[in-house]
Amino acid sequence: MSDEIGQNLTNKPSDDLRATARKNTREDKARSESQSVLNLAALNGVKKTVIQAALEKINANQSVFAEQLTEQNLKQFQRAAANLQEDFKRKKLLGGITAQLIISHSSRKDIKRAQDEIHTIQAVKFEKDGTIQFRTNASRKYGATHHIVSVQFLNFQAALNSGNLTNKMLDAYMKSPVKFDCSCGRHRYWYRYIATVGGFAYGRHETAFPKIRNPELTGMACKHVIRVMHTLARNPVALRGAIKTHIQRFQQNPNATAKTLTKKQADKAKIVAKKGNVIRRSFLQT
Ligand SMILES: [Zn+2]
Repeated sequence: MSDEIGQNLTNKPSDDLRATARKNTREDKARSESQSVLNLAALNGVKKTVIQAALEKINANQSVFAEQLTEQNLKQFQRAAANLQEDFKRKKLLGGITAQLIISHSSRKDIKRAQDEIHTIQAVKFEKDGTIQFRTNASRKYGATHHIVSVQFLNFQAALNSGNLTNKMLDAYMKSPVKFDCSCGRHRYWYRYIATVGGFAYGRHETAFPKIRNPELTGMACKHVIRVMHTLARNPVALRGAIKTHIQRFQQNPNATAKTLTKKQADKAKIVAKKGNVIRRSFLQT
């Protein structure tokens, strides 16, 4: 146990999923009640006086340590969001993105953190809409015991109709476009906005521009998402069983309900990454 990095996964999956849902509700509420969020879309095409009033309100409610926002900042933010959307459009990423591209768009800092701090993942819930909830260990730095990464496979319907699930087909499925989300603060405050702009945010969307944490809109995924995507793209054999179970459940019965794994099932399905294994940003280098 001593060489494990971060918190181990010992709880019942259903308990962790419930705790995460409660935490999300709390944080969503705080976010929606905050008077300092900046919604760029809401300011598009409105009168200058309205923009000034909105900026005044945000500045008045911002932490005293935060810099005051100006109209100049606002223009920069709008340009950053437009450029990002243009970039996603050019790369044909709007609406869905592959595991491999999520990693190659991620910052080196987040990749290093995934490599050093996140070593355990397991599928814990199979959803009807093609989503698998993965649980990962947490780094221990912020008191969390785990995080939940949601990955919606956009080819799920096609997979349901495909009959025989060969290994080749399952491996290709894991590398096909997805939407994603994570329960951690880094995803919420840095990256969910970026995923929303690209149309590949799963579940809740973020319309508030990350004006303090990530005004230049760089990076794409937190360490938990990176670990899951790396496993999907580079170690698909380890996840084949879970992916197959998910597809088969709804192939056999399209009206089946979502399934949460029991502790015993989850313990069996745990994937532990080897310490020191390098996560490469570019897949061409390997
Ligand atoms: Zn995360």
